[in-house]
Amino acid sequence: MTAPRLEIDLDKIQHNARTLVDRLAVRGISVTGVTKATLGSPEVVGALLRAGVTGLGDSRIETIEAMRGACVPASMTLIRSPMPSQAARVVTHADVSFNTELDVISKLSAAAQEAGRTHGIVLMIELGDLREGIMPGDLEDTVRQALCFPSIVLLGIGTNLACRSGVSPDPRNMAELSALADRVEARFGRVMGVVSGGNSANLDWALSGASTGRINDLRLGESILLGRETLHRRPIDGLHTDAMKLVVEVIESKVKPSLPWGEMAQNAFGETPTTTDRGQISQTILAIGRQDTEPSGLRPPPGIEILGASSDHLIVNSGDVLSVGAEVTFELDYSALVRSMTSPFIAKVLKSRNGHLSVAASGPPAWGDRPQSTERTKRVAGIPIS
Ligand SMILES: *Cc1c(COP(=O)(O)O)cnc(C)c1O
Repeated sequence: MTAPRLEIDLDKIQHNARTLVDRLAVRGISVTGVTKATLGSPEVVGALLRAGVTGLGDSRIETIEAMRGACVPASMTLIRSPMPSQAARVVTHADVSFNTELDVISKLSAAAQEAGRTHGIVLMIELGDLREGIMPGDLEDTVRQALCFPSIVLLGIGTNLACRSGVSPDPRNMAELSALADRVEARFGRVMGVVSGGNSANLDWALSGASTGRINDLRLGESILLGRETLHRRPIDGLHTDAMKLVVEVIESKVKPSLPWGEMAQNAFGETPTTTDRGQISQTILAIGRQDTEPSGLRPPPGIEILGASSDHLIVNSGDVLSVGAEVTFELDYSALVRSMTSPFIAKVLKSRNGHLSVAASGPPAWGDRPQSTERTKRVAGIPIS
């Protein structure tokens, strides 16, 4: 079979999603399935929908458009603040978007009005992780203005923690979000139907038994795909951690010294690696590299240890010399997964009880098909063409 390839087990993903949907339902919380790591793969999305997620979320409008193109039957939310330049695409293809800037909401309203539709928004609140969000003290003013846009429907509020700074969702910040929902309702007489508490990092809090207050939705990606909570990356009881696997092929395997020799300077990435002397080892090269994935996010099988990686080579201590052409299978963390999904050099193989579907690696783009593009880009950017 072709390599490198990402093997995606749809039954395991469905099981993971179903388990989380069921456990959270008891706590009064629905699940928005986050599709960004799998680029909106219709097969993965099918598994999420069969598992009972109530809607889909993605941070890229391009992926939402692709899912619409594949006729995915679900409500779709753009979970990153829209780029103003994409406002028309956002209102055309996303039912809802997460927002923090009135100028963006104004553009969405104008675009929605022009398209003869309404667009739902959820206002994101900053609760300490210092990524996106309206400061809590500014929320009432923002709501007051947001309610004036004719083609915008304010559906609720949300927050996102543990992404940039690692701030944990806890009873205090979650209670603050609930209180803000209550306050907006009391002040403006609008029901905050959506109170979206966060991502996979919220699971410990949501399932702890503490009051979940007004929070009625979580947006889950990594925990469904990789079966781990994301504050400590501990496996979640009853979930599969190997629903996604990366299979790579051996292209060299030789006994070599573990220490490099010669005068030492920087490597290809500007680093000056230090190596410990372990005498002679079985050094194996796998045909994958930093261009395809995040090598430090690969979890090797027992007996194999990752030593280093360049753009196209992953170097491991394999214990024994392996045959060239042999395959080695790794589990992945989120960054390795996202990079692997995005690499055109990695084939995607979707497996399920009902058979499997293989999506070949697409390889590098065919630049030759687009001889005009550089010229057009330069003109658009206002750079004179010499
Ligand atoms: C990516 C993302 C999520 C999903 O996060 P996971 O850790 O994969 O569950 C949720 N909300 C927002 C705003 C995101 O960008």
